[in-house]
Amino acid sequence: MDYYSRQISRLIDELSALPGIGNKSAQRLAFHILNMPEDRVEQLAHTILEAKQNVRYCKTCFTLTDDEECPICKNPERDHKTIMVVENTRDLAAYEKTGQYEGVYHVLHGAISPMLGIGPNDIKLKELMQRLQGDVNEVIIATNSSLEGETTAMYISKLIKPTGIKVSRIASGVPVGGDLEYIDEVTLLRALEGRVEL
Ligand code: ZN
Repeated sequence: MDYYSRQISRLIDELSALPGIGNKSAQRLAFHILNMPEDRVEQLAHTILEAKQNVRYCKTCFTLTDDEECPICKNPERDHKTIMVVENTRDLAAYEKTGQYEGVYHVLHGAISPMLGIGPNDIKLKELMQRLQGDVNEVIIATNSSLEGETTAMYISKLIKPTGIKVSRIASGVPVGGDLEYIDEVTLLRALEGRVEL
């Protein structure tokens, strides 16, 4: 891309390193940013930096939040005895969008993948088991239906079984390998309602 000056090329390179941004989109974004008033660009840069510096894990469910505890964990109206286990904060958001789930969550930040060398200790599993020492009625495993998601679900259910806490898995119908965040709300709700006890 030597037809652009070095600084423009650098901006395009940085943007195209982001997920879902191909070279064409990166160029479009770069020129859009360069055409923005300077104070807007400053605000954008500041917002990104501030989010990065302040966002952390909720101390209870480990979702990303900018407070010690996330709004869901803090909400007394939620059913704190039902915990849905998801792989990431985007999956949590997908279930929240249905507006029908009243329990709380636990965010693993990944899934077990022997192929990628990701083991049980690399995700927030110990933290889940610690939570289960409290008063919990049901754990709903809503990991993706990919190989990694299924492996994780099996692993978790084996860990929880001896505790006597009910463990269920969201119904299939969620397309195999499908990222939860791309699935429509109706499908998600059906998967949740049709969950089966493990
Ligand atoms: Zn939380």
